[in-house]
Amino acid sequence: MYGRSLLEHGIFGRVGDGKEIRIKKDKWIPEASYLPILPHVDMPDDLKVSSLIDDYSRQWNDYSRQWNEELVRICFRPADAECILNIPLSHNQVYDCLSWMHTRTGIYTVKSAYIRAKCEAIHLKSSAKAKGEPSNQVCTTKEWKSLWNIKAPPKMKIVLWRFAHNCLPTGQQLTRRKILAYNLCCHCGREETIEHAFLSCKYVDEIWRELKRCGFRRLIKYFQSPQQRVFETLAACSERDVVILVISVWHIWGARNAVRNGEPEVHPHCIVEKLLAYVDMVLLRLYVPVSPNCCDYLKPKHLEPPLEGWITVNVDAVVFRKTNHMGMGIVIRNHMGVFLAACRQGLDNINDPEFAEAVACKRRVLFA
Ligand SMILES: [Zn+2]
Repeated sequence: MYGRSLLEHGIFGRVGDGKEIRIKKDKWIPEASYLPILPHVDMPDDLKVSSLIDDYSRQWNDYSRQWNEELVRICFRPADAECILNIPLSHNQVYDCLSWMHTRTGIYTVKSAYIRAKCEAIHLKSSAKAKGEPSNQVCTTKEWKSLWNIKAPPKMKIVLWRFAHNCLPTGQQLTRRKILAYNLCCHCGREETIEHAFLSCKYVDEIWRELKRCGFRRLIKYFQSPQQRVFETLAACSERDVVILVISVWHIWGARNAVRNGEPEVHPHCIVEKLLAYVDMVLLRLYVPVSPNCCDYLKPKHLEPPLEGWITVNVDAVVFRKTNHMGMGIVIRNHMGVFLAACRQGLDNINDPEFAEAVACKRRVLFA
């Protein structure tokens, strides 16, 4: 029965002279929106396709056939009319015939019917999935999207993404790939798995504890897979905590790499201080809502005074790479625009512009 149905659906009338094919009852337009086609205008059931064709010569071997475009456009909806007008008409005397729509030649082959049947089966399966419960694939795509939508610099999201895929070059990964002979943690000397590098190492644990004291809800605990834990954390955390998570993972990985490259180990408290300053900068400076008109945003703006009773605190930072030094300036004004206070400060050993901005933002909050 399925074979018969497949055959019936795949066969259509190929227009020759149009004298055998009925417009309303037969299938004769492979790409039409409806099969059989439904004309706009009322017409007899047995009206033939030839009534839509203009023959300029009635003599054999001297035919010039064309669709009556005006008539076709009057009788059918625009998409169907286009399909009809795209059907080539032979200038030779040819008769209507049956054609198989799944081969270029129109000739039925078992192979083409088999391929068609397989395609239909796959389509039915995927349609059933789409109508039922969302597949894991759909869920996962949504969750990865939520990771890429986090308000944080892309370089940090990439580290979290690699963490979720367990494809960061931890000691365990490097020894598995025979790149390194040892797999020990640079902070504590234990085996460096992904879980150890980001959660259970004493050094890292101190960072998470400090963050918890600062209000971060530590949701990454021991886990079955990094991906599962990241997805669960993204779903449960506030926006600020998600940003803290991304920036923390990036700084933990950066601190680990620095020590492996021979730099002195930075105290976990300093790492927390640095990453929280970064969090403030990201939330206050990098992802403030902008006007839909980007040009307005890019234009230099006059500093607008705040509402009555409020103050404005402006800050800016600059780095001097040659001297490995940064400077910052802070100005506070009232709603009249009247100067209230200002400060400036220079700091050594900072030449990263983003970090300098972060430090300046934190200083601004403290000064205000
Ligand atoms: Zn360790």
